[in-house]
Amino acid sequence: MKYRAYTLKTFKNIPQISKLSEEQIFDIEVVGEVLPFKANNYVVDELIDWDNFENDPIFILTFPQKDMLSAKHYDRMAELIKSGASRPEITKAANQIRMELNPNPAGQVHNVPELNGEKLVGIQHKYDETMLFFPSQGQTCHAYCTFCFRWPQFTGIDELKFAMKQVDLIIEYLRQNPSITDLLFTGGDPMVMKSKVFEQYIDAIIAAEIPNLKTIRIGTKTLGYWPYRYTKDNDAQQLLDVFKKIQDSGLNLSIMAHFNHINEMSTEAVEQAVKNIRATGAVIRTQSPLMKHLNFDADMWARMWRKQVDWGMIPYYMFIARETGAQEYFAVTLEEAWDIFRKAYAQVSGVCRTVRGPSMSANPGKVQVAGVTEVNGEKVYVLNFIQGRDSDWVGRPFFAKYDPKALWLDDLKPAFADKFFYEEA
Ligand SMILES: *Cc1c(COP(=O)(O)O)cnc(C)c1O
Ligand code: SF4
Repeated sequence: MKYRAYTLKTFKNIPQISKLSEEQIFDIEVVGEVLPFKANNYVVDELIDWDNFENDPIFILTFPQKDMLSAKHYDRMAELIKSGASRPEITKAANQIRMELNPNPAGQVHNVPELNGEKLVGIQHKYDETMLFFPSQGQTCHAYCTFCFRWPQFTGIDELKFAMKQVDLIIEYLRQNPSITDLLFTGGDPMVMKSKVFEQYIDAIIAAEIPNLKTIRIGTKTLGYWPYRYTKDNDAQQLLDVFKKIQDSGLNLSIMAHFNHINEMSTEAVEQAVKNIRATGAVIRTQSPLMKHLNFDADMWARMWRKQVDWGMIPYYMFIARETGAQEYFAVTLEEAWDIFRKAYAQVSGVCRTVRGPSMSANPGKVQVAGVTEVNGEKVYVLNFIQGRDSDWVGRPFFAKYDPKALWLDDLKPAFADKFFYEEA
């Protein structure tokens, strides 16, 4: 199967685009100048239902929508395009708008660790056990999600990019930090890289025999966006062989698969891809943010988790979307998130209840909204760290004042105290 990407320049060649009105096409052009846009022939031909594209979750997931920009930003870009502005003018305006969309949420660039006094820009190490690695060959994706919080790195705001080539530095860092048990390849999508490049990383890591390293994880959206990576691509078999090699070396391999909607599990290609990965012995865990217009539906989540378990995967996280990019369009209040999670969780059996959430990946850590309740007549949120900058914070429930509009941890005020307990330190 030949991969064909569609970009802002080429999307009008997609035959199904003829179903859109002139206005809808123009909206894609306007919003696509600001937010990243890329689709491919699998997403377009096999996932999107073009007879109902306006409500199709995968269309909304990959094609920019007018309301993803504020009216002010939309009008500014629309006028520039209509007036025939030059490329540099459009780029300049796009960058200015992007800077107003909180391109760098949750202190990402503050997590750059050092090795022997040198900054390791392709690594993030926030929680004791797990280190994130951004291989430079994996900083793009087979298509782009319109909600993506990594969007700045696809738009060429270069200083926000994390990426690194040298595997020697990772190995040295892993050795110097014996608390790390998990190395997570992330991106972009690390499975965009060629199998032989991935194999080089893995061979070096295996050969280094790092005693504390137990698990290799790969965060990827390929099962949703390009399952042929594990079936018909030229180097698919080589990749599966590397997966097998990881496990033969005594390390665990966990694929952290991003599925945003059950429709991404609707093709033979993805079912076969899951089988092929599972046959290598790798475990597949699944995660997704919860978003309006896309997957704001408890029954859908329940069906998705059940189907994932049917296929041998393990539901892992439901996230609350970060405050970046098109967040207003997708925004779900903390109370709504808890409500959707609870209603979905309540209708699946224990084997699906490995999923945790709804969780915010915020500055101090991953904070779960355990629920809304009343204590002594005061309505409060109950929150809980699933992961914390300080591991001692994990599993200590705490309270915030009830606020029906709150979208994120920053919107919350402590209840029964002046500060949240983790702010004391
Ligand atoms: C989620 C996350 C991890 C991995 O956490 P686990 O709970 O071990 O899956 C690591 N680093 C960052 C920054 C994260 O957000
Ligand atoms: S696959 Fe992941 S990194 Fe790529 S665009 Fe989607 S959310 Fe962003």
